[in-house]
Amino acid sequence: MTASATSNVEISSVGWRFDNTYTRLPDVFYAVACPATVQEPSVSVLNTDLASELGLDFSRLSPLAAANLFSGQILPDGSQPIAQAYAGHQYGHFTMLGDGRAILLGEHRTPTAQLVDIQFKGGGVTRFSRRGDGRAALGPMLREYLISEAMWALGIPTTRSLAVVTTGEQVYRASALRGAILTRVAASHIRVGTFEYAAARQEAENLQALTDYTIQRHFPELVNAPEKYLAFLKAVIDRQASLIAQWQMVGFIHGVMNTDNMAISGETIDYGPCAFMNVYRPETVFSSIDRHGRYAYGNQPAIAQWNLTRFAETLLPLLDADQEQSVAMATAVLGEFPALFQRYWLSGMRSKLGLQTAESDDLELIQSLLDWMQTTGADFTNTFRKLSDGPLIAEQDQDASFQEWHTRWLLRLNREAGPMESVSARMQAVNPAVIPRNHQVEAALQAAEEQNDLSLFHRLVAVLSSPYELAPESNRYRDPPPDDDGYQTFCGT
Ligand code: AMP
Ligand code: MG
Repeated sequence: MTASATSNVEISSVGWRFDNTYTRLPDVFYAVACPATVQEPSVSVLNTDLASELGLDFSRLSPLAAANLFSGQILPDGSQPIAQAYAGHQYGHFTMLGDGRAILLGEHRTPTAQLVDIQFKGGGVTRFSRRGDGRAALGPMLREYLISEAMWALGIPTTRSLAVVTTGEQVYRASALRGAILTRVAASHIRVGTFEYAAARQEAENLQALTDYTIQRHFPELVNAPEKYLAFLKAVIDRQASLIAQWQMVGFIHGVMNTDNMAISGETIDYGPCAFMNVYRPETVFSSIDRHGRYAYGNQPAIAQWNLTRFAETLLPLLDADQEQSVAMATAVLGEFPALFQRYWLSGMRSKLGLQTAESDDLELIQSLLDWMQTTGADFTNTFRKLSDGPLIAEQDQDASFQEWHTRWLLRLNREAGPMESVSARMQAVNPAVIPRNHQVEAALQAAEEQNDLSLFHRLVAVLSSPYELAPESNRYRDPPPDDDGYQTFCGT
């Protein structure tokens, strides 16, 4: 048997259950694609925990078979690779896009009958590559792996990362970098931009086909709902309000909230220039190209609403036969977003402070703490965690305004039922001890890229896999960077 035939046999033992439901949409929604041949694929990281959740077992694969599989040199049985068509507003400007360096292998059915997309990022050129090379570099793919898995461990809806392989080829950016392919797993890759694409083509039947497909896949409970399309719009808005509130709770800054990077499923998607905030400062931006702070931490809720407005516009033809009526319906639903977001945010913030009941002064109590953090330059994550670790201990080393706030908080906590120890446990369960700190992420990626040393990376992935626990070895991962004022992230294309 040849090497590739051996791999083929091995790969069929993995447990894939492929379907290609997306290819049954009208063919304007995708283009057939084929993963590029690569010189010398080699597995860098394989997520065995995720694999078992998906009902997949890669343990019997030889290193060569695994490398061939995760670089698309050999396709799983039943896979029909495609690139998805989509459009998007990038920094406010509409463009036709599509998967320029992503290839969807198809959908895998998990043991719990969930359909998940299996997608390569960096798998080669497609019909939508425009001037791009269809490739990805190792650093950014490891970065997506690390941060998406950290988000998952934090309990925030997100796409996942199954594997990273190096291709044995170079990709040329500002300098020559090692090429890599990420295998991404997602509820789906349908974006606000997918709907914008359908709407821009002005083909009513195609728009409806996409909408019905998406409802069936992500909101099956709405299939027979009255005013189904309005209910769908509301449900998408609700998931985004909840998602963005969860980002705000942990200081996650997505960095490139273009409409093509907003998933209809409500998962966080596209980890390019994202990073976590250290000092609480709403205007925090890390992305080098976000010069005007459009995607700053404090702007994320407003940008989500802007993106959802673009989404609602695409659905107008389906909401009502009368255009004016459709606009009125969409406007009313969108108008509820700020209050909806605020409810999720306030409820999350109450939990962060150990509060289980609601009082009218809570918002003010939370805001005073945030104001104090901002004024004093306190670390967002560590402040909440310190409060969780010892809510009874007034911090002697803090200033008078903190002491005053702390007394108010203790009085407020005293009005909650139950012993103080349970307050601590409750708070520790929602206030992470560790998040991906920018300097730790950079150090791990640098060692991987420059010395081919993945030990720091693996250690960081392990620490971030239980962010709410404080193991002694996690302690040094809690420190904020010595200085993150000048920290910049890049899109990594
Ligand atoms: P992103 O900034 O990753 O959300 O990508 C925005 C658009 O640029 C998408 O249509 C991508 O497919 C495309 N793109 C990004 N990098 C490349 C690349 N190296 N080659 C081709 N297309 C790319
Ligand atoms: Mg994108």
